[in-house]
Amino acid sequence: MRTLRSISELHAALARPRREGCRIGLVPTMGAFHEGHLSLIRRARIECDDVVVSLFVNPAQFNEAADLSAYPRDGDHDALLAAEERVDFLFAPGVEEIYPSGFATTISVGGLTDVLEGASRGRGHFDGVATVVTKLFNIVSPDVAYFGQKDAQQALVIRRLVRDLNLQVQIETCPTVREPDGLAMSSRNALLAPDEREQATALSRSLRVAAALVAAGETNVRTILDATRAELDGAHLPTEYLQIVNPDTLLPMTTLDGPALALVAARIGSTRLIDNQPLSTATGAAPHGNAQAAGSI
Ligand code: AMP
Repeated sequence: MRTLRSISELHAALARPRREGCRIGLVPTMGAFHEGHLSLIRRARIECDDVVVSLFVNPAQFNEAADLSAYPRDGDHDALLAAEERVDFLFAPGVEEIYPSGFATTISVGGLTDVLEGASRGRGHFDGVATVVTKLFNIVSPDVAYFGQKDAQQALVIRRLVRDLNLQVQIETCPTVREPDGLAMSSRNALLAPDEREQATALSRSLRVAAALVAAGETNVRTILDATRAELDGAHLPTEYLQIVNPDTLLPMTTLDGPALALVAARIGSTRLIDNQPLSTATGAAPHGNAQAAGSI
């Protein structure tokens, strides 16, 4: 594996694979690798000739300076893990490489970004994500890029971005990888104190309550949300949002008459965690595009 810090080095490194028509896969990350990241890398390793993993803690998508400075960073360990997964190129640029002085362009995806994470974290969050991902797509020109269902809204925003701007890249969404007790893996989990770590299990537990009710035939969203919220309240978890939405439009639903997605965001101490669960109705209608993830909670 080669670790590359500059765009010009990466371009030079990718010249041969591109000339030879190799399938190039990109896994964009902010580092502090866990099994969730590794699952994306393994999928890329299987499906692509050359695997590029980007490691860049993108300041533009952080809405709080304290969150950015507390964000876990362990580049050396990440490089070891990436090498073990036979990544070809680890692209780990500095902030100046991505945002040189005078940088003045923002990519902004409308609609989908107004709700949930966009409403909670502010407009700048998804602008930062869309801008850096567009840059990474232009820098790497991957044939395929891998994202996690863990950040369901982000994956949807990126699909919209790719469609709207006619970007020549295939987007794959991979199922959420969880700890044995159900907690969705996240780089931020490392910031939880032991009692907070215990409290955090309520997130996935509450989503399992929703999934079980839906599987048993409940279609009233108010009823499902009440039961889900009771689980969160029982763990004294203050939620930023808890919603059941249409998985394509992210608009709230009142009755489950098709595929749905339950999403939750909560603050545990100073750490903000998110999770989501595609919901399949009792009739067995598979949740749109998320069949694998539905079974993984
Ligand atoms: P991050 O480093 O948190 O920006 O995540 C990089 C990529 O890994 C994103 O596409 C995330 O959605 C994905 N990811 C993060 N956590 C998980 C997880 N537990 N399971 C699957 N994918 C994940």
